[in-house]
Amino acid sequence: MEGSYSEGKDLIADLDTFLASHEAELIEFRRDLHANPETGYAEHRTTRRVALRLAAAGLKPVILPKGTGLLVDIGTNYSERSVVALRADLDALPMADEKDVPYASTVPGVCHACGHDVHTTILLGTGLFLAQQAAAGLLPGRVRLIFQPAEERATGALDVLAAGGIASVGRIFALHCDPRLDAGQLGVRTGPITAACDKIEVRVTGPGGHTARPHLTADLVYALGKIVTELPAALSRRVDPRSSLSLVWGQISAGNAPNAIPDTGLVTGTLRCLDDEAWHSAPVLLKELIDSVVGAYGVTAELVYDRFVPPTVNDTDCAAMLTTAGEAVLGHGGVVHTPQSLGGEDFAWYLESIPGALARLGTRSPGSAQENDLHQPTFDIDERAIGVGLRVMAATALTALWEETSLAASPADQSGSGSESAYPAPAPAQYAAAYDPAAAYSPAPAYDPPAPFNPAPSFGPGSSLESASSFNATPPFDPASTFDPAQAYDPAQAAFNSAAYGSATTYDSAAAYQPSTQFPTRHS
Ligand SMILES: [Zn+2]
Ligand SMILES: [Zn+2]
Repeated sequence: MEGSYSEGKDLIADLDTFLASHEAELIEFRRDLHANPETGYAEHRTTRRVALRLAAAGLKPVILPKGTGLLVDIGTNYSERSVVALRADLDALPMADEKDVPYASTVPGVCHACGHDVHTTILLGTGLFLAQQAAAGLLPGRVRLIFQPAEERATGALDVLAAGGIASVGRIFALHCDPRLDAGQLGVRTGPITAACDKIEVRVTGPGGHTARPHLTADLVYALGKIVTELPAALSRRVDPRSSLSLVWGQISAGNAPNAIPDTGLVTGTLRCLDDEAWHSAPVLLKELIDSVVGAYGVTAELVYDRFVPPTVNDTDCAAMLTTAGEAVLGHGGVVHTPQSLGGEDFAWYLESIPGALARLGTRSPGSAQENDLHQPTFDIDERAIGVGLRVMAATALTALWEETSLAASPADQSGSGSESAYPAPAPAQYAAAYDPAAAYSPAPAYDPPAPFNPAPSFGPGSSLESASSFNATPPFDPASTFDPAQAYDPAQAAFNSAAYGSATTYDSAAAYQPSTQFPTRHS
């Protein structure tokens, strides 16, 4: 019942008003990021652009210790209520942009082909909207925006965790572009949505010798063959089939001559898995199985287990919150079930510690026959998806805050009791009228290519995907250590950054937002 909402307390109307005045700016912001992509840990310009815009809105972003990526909190901290985190990733891919658009990449060999420019823009816009709502007393709690670096290297999330970025966070949400879904649609799934994919290497060594006398040495090639065939079979009998754990070999090598038993051999492959528990136990189980297989042949085997990312397993409640929020702002047809992907996503690292969910944001133009995929050199989006993503993220954060039932009424709504918040939960049907993909959007603003921020971007060591190193069986990150109160991220606590990382990493908005440090505007 629309009539029951008092003025200024209608989320849908507030989103409409906000987007009417900010959507063009956000589209331009995304195009600027798209034209100036940066790979993992080199996202300095992107970080500064986001930080400056947040600072201009009165927020106090904090740059992560390595210099790229940032965190910012919005709203009042209610001690009874945990923080809700929203996450975006900043990095582009080391590949060429083959699009013929005015905002195509100006950096050779670097391209936002995974839509992280879109995620970043959506989160920035969501932050600006939530800051406006907080100022009006309409944000019943605190929301943390996490702009993480280096998702494609699968380690950026670990940097956020190491910096205490999810301290006091109760739930975390993220969107990822999906070119197989229409703009205006949100793909939601409970349980695994992306897979773990680890690299396995087994090195076998023995004394070597003549093939005429295998009994006097160790038949290494035979033992290697046993590993290749027995290991996947044994795994399938030792792990719950529902975990969809699969080990597939991609490379094998041993020996040079037909009549010489070699002294070394190697087989490598990938282990994919949808179940978090099975993923955690895989290295130990694999080592045990390898030892039992080769034990009979007198060779020794060494397992090198390179972790990439865990499976992303969406929490049931959090996925339901995404559905509730999505239906509220997109209408009933706006939320669809999304299939599980065998790709990897480092958002999974957050879900190792706290509940959360990742949803797919439709980016295909409705009615388009074009089959676009992520990581393609021609990947692009229907830019209406930016406004849609903002609506979903904002509504999701509010839905998650509403779910926290122990909160007293917010300062703006003293009449509320218990779980009631400043915003009444929006009626799902309400948005159907407000959002019409065909009609709601005015043409994109005219685009002037921006002056490049840095005509000769440096690509120093560590900026290439090639050097992406996964780590061995024992992850360096201990989830339990994240919640060290001394490490807690609290923007009100200026000591945090200076104490932990030196003042150079503190983003001082007052100092930074000066004309001399501003980015050149596209009209300059
Ligand atoms: Zn990607
Ligand atoms: Zn991605």
